[in-house]
Amino acid sequence: MRGKQYVGESIDVYYDVSLCVHAAECVRGLPEVFDTKRKPWILPDGAEAPDVATVIERCPSGALQFVRKDGGDAETPDVPTSVKLND
Ligand code: SF4
Repeated sequence: MRGKQYVGESIDVYYDVSLCVHAAECVRGLPEVFDTKRKPWILPDGAEAPDVATVIERCPSGALQFVRKDGGDAETPDVPTSVKLND
C-alpha cells in the first residue's frame, strides 16, 4: 500500500497525494468519510466498510486504496492491466 494510512475499525484507507487528480469522486461519493475541510480528512469509520470500498474503487487515479479488516472483498484492480498510448 502507498501513501498515508487512515486506520478504521473495519477498513483501513491509504491516500497518496502525489497520485490524486482532484476529481472529487471520493468527496462527492461519501462526504461523511472524505471531507477536505476536516482534519483528518479521511474517517474510515464514517460509513459502512463496503460503501467506503465502493467509493475508493471509483477513484480514477489510484490515489486511494483500502484494506478490509472485516473479511470483506479485497480491492479488485482492473484486469487485465492496460496501457494506452496517445498518437
Ligand atoms: S477520488 Fe481519488 S483522485 Fe479524486 S479527489 Fe479523491 S483521491 Fe483524489
